[in-house]
Amino acid sequence: MKFVSPPHPCIPLVKVSWMSHTSDVVIVGGGVIGLTTAFRLASERLSVTVVDRQQVGQEASWAGAGMLPPGSPGHVDSPEAKLRALSHSLWPGLTAELQELTGIDTGFRRCGSVQLCPPSADSAEDLARGWHSEGIACEILDAARLQSRIPGLRPTFQHGVFVPDFAQVRNPRHLKALSLACRRRGVTFFENCPDVRLSSDEGRVVELTTGLQRISAGHVCITAGAWTPLLLEPLGIKLPVSPVRGQIAQIRVSSLPFHSVVELGKQYLVPRPDGLILIGSTEERVGYEKGATLGGVSSLLEFAGNLIPALEQATLERSWSGLRPASPNELPFIGGLADLGNLSIACGHFRSGLQMSPGTAALLTNVVLGRVCVKSVDWVNVPLLDMISR
Ligand SMILES: Cc1cc2nc3c(=O)[nH]c(=O)nc-3n(C[C@H](O)[C@H](O)[C@H](O)COP(=O)(O)OP(=O)(O)OC[C@H]3O[C@@H](n4cnc5c(N)ncnc54)[C@H](O)[C@@H]3O)c2cc1C
Repeated sequence: MKFVSPPHPCIPLVKVSWMSHTSDVVIVGGGVIGLTTAFRLASERLSVTVVDRQQVGQEASWAGAGMLPPGSPGHVDSPEAKLRALSHSLWPGLTAELQELTGIDTGFRRCGSVQLCPPSADSAEDLARGWHSEGIACEILDAARLQSRIPGLRPTFQHGVFVPDFAQVRNPRHLKALSLACRRRGVTFFENCPDVRLSSDEGRVVELTTGLQRISAGHVCITAGAWTPLLLEPLGIKLPVSPVRGQIAQIRVSSLPFHSVVELGKQYLVPRPDGLILIGSTEERVGYEKGATLGGVSSLLEFAGNLIPALEQATLERSWSGLRPASPNELPFIGGLADLGNLSIACGHFRSGLQMSPGTAALLTNVVLGRVCVKSVDWVNVPLLDMISR
């Protein structure tokens, strides 16, 4: 590896000179997808560099609620269910590895989820059938059982299911652990590089520049979430991924009334053991505009109060938003591009990027190492790979 140290700060610069850096793999974008992939690749003894336009782990991966729905590999054939199942099987091992390397408790735990049917539903059979068809355990809850799992639930909710293998993670802590574990495995970080550019020649990415560094690598992975299309555009690649804003409100209660995740359609409550409850989330197509809004936060608070009236006494702690990367069918693109042999992408995980990160990283690692041919892996978003046009 060749690395030229920056000049001493007291020496005046008369001419901007590039610092050059070489790596087996360079990963652009240090969210959960990029960091997990960097960790995996470094564990394969490759030299890995992560480049981010800001500090890593600050975008959607930080903003998410950390819900990790279960999967079961034996019974599924859809790409989404396969990637979910693969990831489900990898989460406990990854967590143990991170804990051992960094000492950080990421809050990964099996907490279960109560999935509520709307008040108009006659039964929870349909919900249960979906889980059972994947071989995943769930228990149908009648009104009395719902009340015992969620004391104070508005009695208009009469039906639901309990999914015991549903887990959660404190994603900001998970990102901190990933970043530290990467550093301990020798990954190089170039953060706060707002001007990353890729140049290609004869079917390969030949160089990446950041304004100060000139980086060459055998393989380049773009894992820049909702911003991935902007990085690929100058190469003439049009990736159909766009940002979808999600807002979360965080409240605090003196004692948690329930300990499982509670879901109603796309909205949910995620209890943390220290008395915090996350209320999520909105789905808004507002371009790259981040920020929690009065309308968004008040709709979330209203949702929580409608579900469990006692939550109206909770303290509002903070609110935030993140930009989910959404593809047209809400499944991620994972794999290489035929026209640029040493470029791979993993992005477009929409609402499931935290859950699917270990599986995505395993798959992308195999792509980089040439262990799998992208087209033969059926959980890759194959139909949509055809939509990437140059
Ligand atoms: C409110 C909300 C709730 C969610 N809840 C859940 C949940 O409970 N469970 C779940 O599984 N998923 C959840 N998600 C979805 C999940 O957070 C995302 O799918 C996932 O974080 C995407 O990860 P990523 O690494 O692709 O993108 P990001 O985390 O957005 O990371 C992209 C990285 O690329 C960097 N970058 C961008 N442009 C450039 C550039 N030009 N040069 C260099 N670097 C660049 C960014 O700085 C950032 O570090 C939620 C999302 C939101 C917003």
